[in-house]
Amino acid sequence: MSKVLGVVFSAADSYAIQAFASALGMPFDLLCLSGAPVTDAGAGKVIEFGLGDLPVADSAATMIQTHASGYTVIAGVSSMASKDVLARVAGLLDAGMITDVIKVNSPTQFVRPIVAGTMLATVDALSSPLVVTFRPAGFEMPARGGSSPVETLNWDVSAVAQVQSRSQKSGGRPDLTQAKIVVSGGRPLKDAATFEAIIGGLADALGGAAGATRAAVDSGIAANELQVGQTGKIVAPDLYIAAGISGSTQHMAGIKDSKIIVAINKDGDAPIFEFADFGLVADLYDAIPEFRRLIGK
Ligand code: FAD
Repeated sequence: MSKVLGVVFSAADSYAIQAFASALGMPFDLLCLSGAPVTDAGAGKVIEFGLGDLPVADSAATMIQTHASGYTVIAGVSSMASKDVLARVAGLLDAGMITDVIKVNSPTQFVRPIVAGTMLATVDALSSPLVVTFRPAGFEMPARGGSSPVETLNWDVSAVAQVQSRSQKSGGRPDLTQAKIVVSGGRPLKDAATFEAIIGGLADALGGAAGATRAAVDSGIAANELQVGQTGKIVAPDLYIAAGISGSTQHMAGIKDSKIIVAINKDGDAPIFEFADFGLVADLYDAIPEFRRLIGK
């Protein structure tokens, strides 16, 4: 029987995998690489290792390979971590891999964006098992419920390499790729302190994540890991606020799955307005403080 092994890299992945498996029409199990196991996503079982933190990619890939027997599809939500780990899994299993799937046509045919999201490719899977990463925004979330059994297993994650420590620079904001609200800023943010005060401040006021363009990252205004776009992170929030962002093809490739895009730009002819659901022609240094004053945050 065809079955999905969903690899959980962070808490919200379990429900996204439920949605993806439902689009495939296959039952699924979850293999939890970090965080507490989720038992109400309808999985046949949840395998966990009590790891807490994500192990290094080589260890994680070996761990998944060991548990991959009997599964037709090994799937994870698209992220830097999942591409790092699942590409290794595909190599270990000698399996095909399809990344960034946005639509399932059949259990062996998938749609994915190419050329910075300007075109869509329909891809037939020729291997079994198949390794897939997918963008959750394209899939309807089914109802939660049930109580999946949890299998807790031991795994020596130090076999290949060990993580000594991790540090987080973004001050506890939600992960960009999972956030429901993302506030991003571009080149006009001048410097890191201004970016943090204006973009970080609005992100915190809305309980969202902060993002940036490559121009902002390259100018030292924003940290590398905040880059959104073709060569940065792909985001799919309910609300994306782009402040002082021109709307280059490369930036739009990372945000086009956002449900609502709001653009603030002082140039009424900026390309971002062609993609935005709501546009405000204004100086961001006036508009953002005024918006925060209006919402009282
Ligand atoms: P700009 O293009 O300089 O635009 C700034 C905008 O701010 C302008 O529209 C201006 O009108 C507006 N503005 C100025 N002052 C204010 C103000 N006070 N208030 C309101 N609006 C104001 N870019 C990415 O973002 N992500 C990527 O992943 C990425 N990958 C790339 C990959 C390749 C191979 C290449 C070649 C480029 C890539 N780029 C990427 C860069 C991309 O082409 C653009 O250069 C970049 O996105 C522009 O960033 P920006 O909008 O911040 O800057």
